[in-house]
Amino acid sequence: MRSKAAILRELNKPFVIEEVEWDDPRDDEIGVRIVATGVCHSDWHCTNGAYQMDFPDHPMIAGHEGVGIVERVGKNVHRVKEGDHIVMSWMASCGECEWCVKGLGQLCDRGEHLIDGLRDDYTSRVHTLDGKDCWQLSFLGAFSDYCVIPERCAIKVDKDIPLEKVPIVGCRIPTGWGSVIYTAQADQGCTALVVGLGGVGINAIQGLKSVGARIIIAADIAGNKEQWAREFGATHFIDCSKQDLVEEVYKITGIGVDYAFECCGIGKTQEDCVKAIHKGGHAVFVGVASIEQKGIEVNLNKLTLFQQSIRGTCYGGRSPFELVPKLLEMYKCGIIKFDEVITKEYKLEEINEAYADMFAGKNICGVIRF
Ligand SMILES: [Zn+2]
Ligand SMILES: [Zn+2]
Repeated sequence: MRSKAAILRELNKPFVIEEVEWDDPRDDEIGVRIVATGVCHSDWHCTNGAYQMDFPDHPMIAGHEGVGIVERVGKNVHRVKEGDHIVMSWMASCGECEWCVKGLGQLCDRGEHLIDGLRDDYTSRVHTLDGKDCWQLSFLGAFSDYCVIPERCAIKVDKDIPLEKVPIVGCRIPTGWGSVIYTAQADQGCTALVVGLGGVGINAIQGLKSVGARIIIAADIAGNKEQWAREFGATHFIDCSKQDLVEEVYKITGIGVDYAFECCGIGKTQEDCVKAIHKGGHAVFVGVASIEQKGIEVNLNKLTLFQQSIRGTCYGGRSPFELVPKLLEMYKCGIIKFDEVITKEYKLEEINEAYADMFAGKNICGVIRF
């Protein structure tokens, strides 16, 4: 099957639009007609080598926040059928490894192939027209109007949910919201800092508002994010392009915050988040750091004597197969905002513009609409 895709062929080069050829789905795989895909920061990490890349031998199709309609199914597929609407999970939780059995599907051992999307026999399902196997980010490659993915990446969605409104539930909504609810288990009346106001940070703010946080300090280098942050529940805003993050947190709180959520994956802001928490406080690292980043500087004496914690969180700390359906039900009930999180739609051909807008701070979340 031919499809039109945004491909990465070299490091630090823009996406190029090309036709690619997909194999038929194997027994445990499905073919999906993509409706919309979120423009997430993690896809950008594939362009600059922040994750382990292998250009130019393996061109890559990124895109891991996809929604679509099942078009073809392999003969052993049981959980979805042709015509079903699905949200894609970027972790193909196998259901059988130690972590999946413990209910931690977000930590599935299949994560070993998260970047290349190669199957257990190291084969790829998608190829360039000049004959190269493509990597398929997170087994998905949803910057393409059609994909072949493992059945285990598909989460079935009720047909009364407008698919084009919900691609972000495949990554940034559960990641941000879940980091507050499940990883930090933030309590009513708490104080918190959220650094980095893309889709993940804004949804951490939604989570904090939902638990009744008393102080929610939002911080970003883009000063124009303030209005959005306040609309979602922030009580204070720090413009990091002009103000010192840690200093401002102490001006607002006097003693630091209970929780600091770092949603950028940058060493300096991770260090600042640790400095911004008070005794007994928790720094939660939500943004994924580059593989080049070897460590951060932390005052370990203080960490112990002040009984502080630093925690990582993946996919919001829960299996996407638990969290995505739950968040969709919450969206239907009107207790979590999805529509307002998507601030602009783009065509696939406009993908480089969509990323330029992301870095200019023009969106909470941009979405490619097919
Ligand atoms: Zn597993
Ligand atoms: Zn993402």
